[in-house]
Amino acid sequence: MEANRCLFCYDAPCTHACPTHIDVPRFVKKIATDNLIGSARAIFDFNLLGATCARVCPVQELCEGACVLGAEHKPIMIGRLQRYAMDHAYERSISVIQLSAPTGKKVAVIGAGPAGLSCAGELAKRGHSVTVFEKRELAGGLSTYGIISLREPVDRALAEVAMIARLGVRFETGRESGRDFTLTGLQAVYDAVFIAAGLGTSPSAGIAGEEHIVDGLDYIERSKMDVANLKVGHNVVVIGAGNTAIDCATIAKRLGAERVTILYRRTAREMTAYGHEYAFAKSEGVEFSFLTQPLRVLTEGDSVTGLACGRIILGENDRSGRPAPRPIPGEEFVLATDQIVKAIGQKKLSVDGVAMKGGYIQVDEDFFTSIPGVYAGGDCIRVKGAASTVMAGQDGKLASAAMHRRLMHG
Ligand SMILES: Cc1cc2nc3c(=O)[nH]c(=O)nc-3n(C[C@H](O)[C@H](O)[C@H](O)COP(=O)(O)OP(=O)(O)OC[C@H]3O[C@@H](n4cnc5c(N)ncnc54)[C@H](O)[C@@H]3O)c2cc1C
Ligand code: SF4
Repeated sequence: MEANRCLFCYDAPCTHACPTHIDVPRFVKKIATDNLIGSARAIFDFNLLGATCARVCPVQELCEGACVLGAEHKPIMIGRLQRYAMDHAYERSISVIQLSAPTGKKVAVIGAGPAGLSCAGELAKRGHSVTVFEKRELAGGLSTYGIISLREPVDRALAEVAMIARLGVRFETGRESGRDFTLTGLQAVYDAVFIAAGLGTSPSAGIAGEEHIVDGLDYIERSKMDVANLKVGHNVVVIGAGNTAIDCATIAKRLGAERVTILYRRTAREMTAYGHEYAFAKSEGVEFSFLTQPLRVLTEGDSVTGLACGRIILGENDRSGRPAPRPIPGEEFVLATDQIVKAIGQKKLSVDGVAMKGGYIQVDEDFFTSIPGVYAGGDCIRVKGAASTVMAGQDGKLASAAMHRRLMHG
């Protein structure tokens, strides 16, 4: 019924709004005519990570936000329809992807997150022999370890990895570049290398008592991998204002915290979290303390008892284009809490001699780095714009096309 509501627009705005430009009317039409395998094929033609994207994409900001029916009616539930077609193909293990004849070319990929998986899968489709080196025990990157189970359960992320492996891609997990092998070593064996190492761990919050603060990325990972051993406080404070902060807060709430407060130096207007995520957190009962700066963690023995905070006023815009937070002298207060979680972004990584700009790997329009034969994509190059799974997947897809051109035609 939902598929039949679609107007199958010509030059569809939903397709333009999708970073991978999935032909939405085409795959929705195939659902409407009960051709679910055809629909899955139409999705895979543009996005090998269609199953994860159907679950994790901020569709309100992308395809559904652009749907012409959004103005006066409800937009088509494009994400749910995509998930329906993808689940149909996955649950029946139906392979809909055609592989080209082997080319004899070998490519190494560093990092098995969305960018690496998409690039590896697209290269395998074109007949290249691909090996993915991943430092963690499991492949999938943040889809496996970082995106909350509510959106992307671990088994779904791993099913996508298995699908890429079925295309012929080899995975070597527990293998870290810089520790177990070098970029130069890979270049000696492979015709090209794609770096898709994402970003690093959380940076320091820079306040006294930091050692008592829980890392938000670890918090989410534990909630996915080992929830029985995740300690959740009664009165949790989350420092940060992005989507990861919202994720940490909603996990804490759903796992039994009585009170959860997100603390942010600016106001709701400047938060980097999506509007729908902010609304979701409020609907889950998460509280917000805006114009508040953490100063130091208060403890008794090893237990956290509070967070000393300062009040802020906003001044002129700073380099980020947002009003600069300025502490109000003497305005200090204590937030009672027994667990503080920081969700303040990820550190940037550097890779063996590759030129960086502003902490990100520098690439040209073909995702070519400063080193011949070495490409990069995903979060490790995303200087501007919100980083997301679909953007990382699209980087991998576009980089694979550029690599293929150079590998086959010089
Ligand atoms: C908590 C959190 C929640 C998010 N939720 C969403 C969401 O709901 N929707 C959405 O669209 N986006 C979300 N994102 C963003 C999204 O997950 C990322 O943009 C996306 O995963 C980036 O893909 P990537 O392949 O570039 O990097 P990653 O997913 O980070 O993958 C990089 C991979 O490289 C590996 N690696 C790193 N260094 C090395 C090395 N030296 N050698 C070998 N392997 C290495 C890592 O272990 C990892 O597996 C979220 C991000 C976070 C942090
Ligand atoms: S914009 Fe909406 S109605 Fe038009 S094709 Fe896309 S989903 Fe269908």
